[in-house]
Amino acid sequence: MKLLLVDDDLDMRALLKPALVAQGLEVLEAGTAHDADALLAAAPVDLLVIDGLLPDAPGLAYIKQLRSRGVPTPIVYMSEFFGDLKAFNRITTELAVSLVVYKPVDPTSFAAKVAELASSAAPTATAAGAGSIASELAELRRQFAERLPEKLAALEAAIETSRQEGGLHGEARMLAHRLRGSAGSYGYPGLGEAMGVVEDLLKTTWPNPAGKRFFWEQVDRAMADARVSAAQSPDEVMQGPRPVAGASKAMLVVDDDADFLRMVCGLARKLLIDVVSARSADEALQRAKTQPLLGAILDVHLHEEDSFSLAKSLRATRGNEEIPIAFSSVDGRISTRVAAIEAGGTKFFDKPISEESFGELVQQFLRLSQDRQGRVVIVDDDHDVAAHYSNCLRGAGFVVEVLHSADELVDTLEEIRPDVLLLDVNLPHVSGIDVCRALRTSERWELLPILIVTAHLEPALRLRAFRAGASDVIGKPVLPEELLARVGVQEERMRLLRDRADKDPLSGLMLRRAFVEALQRPLATCAREKKPLSLVLLDIDHFKKVNDTWGHLAGDRVIAGLGELLRRRFRVEDLRARWGGEEFVLVFPGQGQEFAVQAAQRLLREFSELRFPADDGQPFGATFTAGVAESPADGNSIATLIRSADSHLYAGKREGRNRVVGRPNVKEESR
Ligand code: GH3
Ligand code: MG
Ligand code: MG
Repeated sequence: MKLLLVDDDLDMRALLKPALVAQGLEVLEAGTAHDADALLAAAPVDLLVIDGLLPDAPGLAYIKQLRSRGVPTPIVYMSEFFGDLKAFNRITTELAVSLVVYKPVDPTSFAAKVAELASSAAPTATAAGAGSIASELAELRRQFAERLPEKLAALEAAIETSRQEGGLHGEARMLAHRLRGSAGSYGYPGLGEAMGVVEDLLKTTWPNPAGKRFFWEQVDRAMADARVSAAQSPDEVMQGPRPVAGASKAMLVVDDDADFLRMVCGLARKLLIDVVSARSADEALQRAKTQPLLGAILDVHLHEEDSFSLAKSLRATRGNEEIPIAFSSVDGRISTRVAAIEAGGTKFFDKPISEESFGELVQQFLRLSQDRQGRVVIVDDDHDVAAHYSNCLRGAGFVVEVLHSADELVDTLEEIRPDVLLLDVNLPHVSGIDVCRALRTSERWELLPILIVTAHLEPALRLRAFRAGASDVIGKPVLPEELLARVGVQEERMRLLRDRADKDPLSGLMLRRAFVEALQRPLATCAREKKPLSLVLLDIDHFKKVNDTWGHLAGDRVIAGLGELLRRRFRVEDLRARWGGEEFVLVFPGQGQEFAVQAAQRLLREFSELRFPADDGQPFGATFTAGVAESPADGNSIATLIRSADSHLYAGKREGRNRVVGRPNVKEESR
């Protein structure tokens, strides 16, 4: 691998060169754009490292020149300063710069990054996902600081009104309460404490006339403390979420066409998606083991390798059992498409890929991965606090929905099906504790973990919260680490409970009830988008005989084997479930009957070739019969689709089993 280092700073070159050589790179050097051009004209290089300022041209101008001359070489750009995100995007997309590094650089890690880049030709994009959340958080903090004087002024005005008019201090109390909760989270713990004092004072019943002066003096003193704290610069401890493992998932692109890789990297960067690329199956599997993946794009025509078996091997690596996969190809024959689906391809697209279809693909993958991410609903009337929680949680990979009142909570819960509900105690019109109690009266929300967040951690309130059915109580200000830890524990527990209730341990597939629930959404979506949806009902042949001949345990192994096949094959969004006994159901959203028939036939072929050990060790095999139905042709409800598929299944049994049967106008096929 040959690299050309373009920098007029001899010290810098002296620093970087040994580290690059140590990474096994051959290093050429140039001090000006002019010298660099001369070297490039003599022989092409694999990678260019270009400094931000050269004696005869700004680095970016030189890169632009190279690109307009059609030089495709990957470029690392070394910059003295960090511009804004927009400038960064322009550099990486328009100029196709693979990597931007900021000085000062650490030679060793710089060289390691550059070597990785050189070896993959197409780069790993920067961790833009994590970066954008951190910068969003910084922005929120800035806004909070900016509005702080306004908030304090509003509180002072409300206190003044209370002081003049006497009576209740509702408005002032509420404002102090909010600030008490949010200030600490935004790096002003002193202000939070002062607000606690103010709020508690305002809560006390109106003091007797003698105590009145003393009372207001105390309020004034706390407000003075508050102003002092607010004037200080915020603490850095609350800097926000550290990216958690798995938070920034990357798109794996496996292709031996460097131009395609480069283009996908460019498109991905625009969408702030990380990309890892690989040119071979081995490399892809290596990457899949070390990098959390959002999904994978595989070229159907990998050089001398079978990308369908690569898909299967990818799915067999830990943590990637359910990653969505897309296949790219220059030819879109139906047989290739069927094979792609059977290998788990969510999407199939023809090369070259357009920006639009790549965008759609990323959206779809994100949606699919969201289905598997933990979901949290936050209810807090304080927008700042809610945004703070939401950022912490999103930074850790949760999908978050924020509500500012409990009014639409039940609808939202129905729609989002969260794993955890974060509920503030002081909500408009209602107490979070009452909301919690109300939810617990419904069987539907019996198990939902509910975390009550409150600024008042006194035992009486905690007790009330737990009596109302809260799973946990968190005190404000909430530290990001504590929030993540507590939400994480609850989410994991919920996942376990849900798995236990929804999943069949023998086949590892969903049980009927969970399947019926999960089918609602794709059924509605396909109807709305006027897309077909097909359903396959399959039943193992002569299973009673299997049990009788080979033993009941052997029968169980057959069910487990078919379950595993169903889990390993097919796309993430294809629903697969154990319908009952030795009956299974399989749904392809967006695909018609013809497709489903072919997919089921491939499955049948693969299943019938499996050999299971009998209880006495003898190997034996089994077959199944499947009936296929399609929406809307055979109906729009689960019941009608199942009925229709079942009648085809029954016909198939009568005709001799070991076959897939659809509606008669689709040609019936047996093996
Ligand atoms: P057909 O080809 O007509 O479907 O014949 P069959 O024998 O498969 O049909 P039937 O529905 O009469 O029998 C199903 C048998 O499957 C009965 C039941 O004992 C067995 N079975 C159901 N669940 C399990 C299970 O979890 N493990 C085992 N080993 N057997 C099961
Ligand atoms: Mg049966
Ligand atoms: Mg049967």
